[in-house]
Amino acid sequence: ASSAKPAKAAATYVKPHAATGSEAVVELREAIKAKLIYVLGKTPEAARERDWFAATALALRDRIVDACYGAETGSVPDKRVYYLSLEFLIGRLLSDAMNNLGLVEATKAALGDLGVDLAAVEGAEPDAALGNGGLGRLAACFMESMASLSIPAIGYGIRYDHGIFRQSLEDGWQREAPETWLAEGNPWEFPRPEATYKIGFGGTVTMTSQGDHHIRRHWHPAETVNAVAYDVPIVGWRAKHVNVLRLWKAEADAPVELARFNAGDHVGAVAGRARAEAISRVLYPSDSSAEGQELRLRQEFFFTSASLQDLVRRHVAERGSLRSLPDHAAIQLNDTHPAIAVPELMRILMEDHDLTWEDAWQITTNTLHYTNHTLLPEALETWPVELMERLLPRHMQIIYLINWLHLEEQNKNAKGRRPDEAFDISAVSLIDESHGRRVRMGPLAFHGSRRVNGVSALHSELLKSTVFKDLHTIEPEKIVNKTNGITFRRWLHNANPELTALAVEAAGKDVLDDPTLLERLVPFADDPDFRKRYAAMRKTRKKRLAQVIAERTGVAVDPSALFDVQIKRIHEYKRQLLNLIETVALYQAIKQAPNKDWTPRVKIFAGKAAPSYVQAKLIIKLAGDIATIVNNDPEIGDRLKVVFLPNYSVSLAEVIIPAADLSEQISTAGMEASGTGNMKLALNGALTVGTLDGANIEIKDHVGADNIFIFGLDAEGVLARVKEPDYAAKAIAASPRLAAALDAIGNGTFSPDDPGRFAPLVDELRHGDRYLTTVDFEDYWRVQREIDAAWKRPETWWRTAILNTARMAWFSSDRSMREYAEEIWRVKVA
Ligand code: PLP
Repeated sequence: ASSAKPAKAAATYVKPHAATGSEAVVELREAIKAKLIYVLGKTPEAARERDWFAATALALRDRIVDACYGAETGSVPDKRVYYLSLEFLIGRLLSDAMNNLGLVEATKAALGDLGVDLAAVEGAEPDAALGNGGLGRLAACFMESMASLSIPAIGYGIRYDHGIFRQSLEDGWQREAPETWLAEGNPWEFPRPEATYKIGFGGTVTMTSQGDHHIRRHWHPAETVNAVAYDVPIVGWRAKHVNVLRLWKAEADAPVELARFNAGDHVGAVAGRARAEAISRVLYPSDSSAEGQELRLRQEFFFTSASLQDLVRRHVAERGSLRSLPDHAAIQLNDTHPAIAVPELMRILMEDHDLTWEDAWQITTNTLHYTNHTLLPEALETWPVELMERLLPRHMQIIYLINWLHLEEQNKNAKGRRPDEAFDISAVSLIDESHGRRVRMGPLAFHGSRRVNGVSALHSELLKSTVFKDLHTIEPEKIVNKTNGITFRRWLHNANPELTALAVEAAGKDVLDDPTLLERLVPFADDPDFRKRYAAMRKTRKKRLAQVIAERTGVAVDPSALFDVQIKRIHEYKRQLLNLIETVALYQAIKQAPNKDWTPRVKIFAGKAAPSYVQAKLIIKLAGDIATIVNNDPEIGDRLKVVFLPNYSVSLAEVIIPAADLSEQISTAGMEASGTGNMKLALNGALTVGTLDGANIEIKDHVGADNIFIFGLDAEGVLARVKEPDYAAKAIAASPRLAAALDAIGNGTFSPDDPGRFAPLVDELRHGDRYLTTVDFEDYWRVQREIDAAWKRPETWWRTAILNTARMAWFSSDRSMREYAEEIWRVKVA
């Protein structure tokens, strides 16, 4: 990302000119200088951009702390939200902090006084990339919104030493390198060594009789690891409220085994430490697929246990009895990664606090809530019973008992069930017996939670009819929908100040506090002068992106061409391949009729593939190979360019999104749970080309069917089509254009050095095509040509773009958080 920009040594510092500006600027300037000199130990002359960044962050952090003490004065909130997530894809925090503190201009001026350029300082902040994609970025948006809505909340996660890998392209192939965001420390965080908890693994369980047939069980772990808290303050809009993101670092009990060391075994003496600390070493780079490794389960239990111990300790300190936990704490499990919270909370309540099973179950199932993020079978977590018994023996016992009671209940109720509601009891078991014995984490989270939510209207309905069909029959009230959202502070105000200025001018400055006022832009869609300025805003952003593209790929693109972007993880269900096949078909069509009036397009791709996902990595290579041929074909010129920008990240998204004309949201219907990239792009006025999938459906409902380009099968259509034999062969036979594009890819037109390179991709389409790429191709081609035509009518194009911005307010994560607060957590929002 731009965070990889090399820091220039001392180059930015020039002797300060006479101080200008207000008292706030002077104060901030002096604070930054003091941090630089006294905390970092650097003179202004010797400071690099990275040092200025750290000094600025530390100065602003002081103000966040002030805001924190100013607002709360130590009072205990009535109810806290605890958001447990294995991922927080935060990105950079400087612009967030400045904007929410209302200090953007003051910081710019203060640094300016010191001869330092704010943009360069912002560029020196590494991305906190503690997540893979949508799920982790959602957690980051939710944290910001909860702070902005003054919802008392603590986010809990892992302080990975290394976040998502850095992606580079070597001859077009993805290469992964470790990411090192902590290499120079993290000025935003407060280490809290006093908040350290012991996390156990393995060992045995003993029983003691307590009389009256009452038996207590005790877990004696074979191994313990310390979880040490690091707090990152999250400041809300206008600094009215500050929450904490508490990230756990794994540390060994004993940093070195002295006896072994003294006996000369210097390496063995620190082996235990290496093993313990491995837990928070790296983020697993898998997205939309489950990770079956033991270390992953250790990570999940590690952060879940530490977080539960921490919140239970806090509750006891504040309220005494744990019986009132559900009244004062709402725990949200972001996907099943923290689903082990169900037995772990039970264990803590029974073992550490002497509650009975019944009381513990009542408390647990009234405190926990679970968000499901996917229906893809390969992404649903299960853990082998054998592994659980070895690593978490007490938890496995608790799961067995939860399951036994649950199945007993269902057997009892079976007699009263209507025939259409009947199900095989194994379908609702928490243990899957069909693929070796495995614990099913989704059903465990479902059964242990008070509410279960999907993340878009369609997704929540599909939860009821597919993965949780039978559990839903048992508890029809449990599944609710909470459509995802995005924080407008980052994705509109910070990422696109030019559009924000236009919005303020048209809708008034209150639009910064209340996004529903964006609706006031609607009449401006018919104002030719406003349209012109909206288009000029986009042009500015496209020139900037064109620069980034030139720097990072060497490809020159024309900012007046249509910028068509697909930026997201590379996954077959997201169908980057559909876009690439259409690119090839378009290339062939241009070559056949070079004199036709083609709409010039730049196809922009970015995204990481899981390192073990062979097909996804081949898709990246295909994009690069197509780019090489197309971009160097003199017959094509500026009519078509293809670029793959390496190392997609939050900070790169912030550059691409405001510059996008067209947003590709083309997943196979029924497979994308929601999407949030789709929301960011539409808010910034990119027109969507999309399937009726995830939140695209709700985007269509808000912006209006005339202002979005929908194509392809819907979710029902997909379910019906996959039952038809040979659907791919039929689709290819019916489309000469598709057949020709597939032939070209398959026969090595784009890979003359290795003609068979893409045969695996093409063969999969011809003989399987699980994601119905061939089936949706013709309609996709049709809608793309409609888009070509629309681009040639600038009045309607910009009118439509403005209407998109004007009607996206509902997708603010403030709205999502309000809904969670009112309908799931039962927390009052002012
Ligand atoms: N990665 C990053 C850096 C993002 O900002 C986003 C969302 O905007 C995503 C991934 C998720 O994108 P999508 O919803 O298109 O899968």
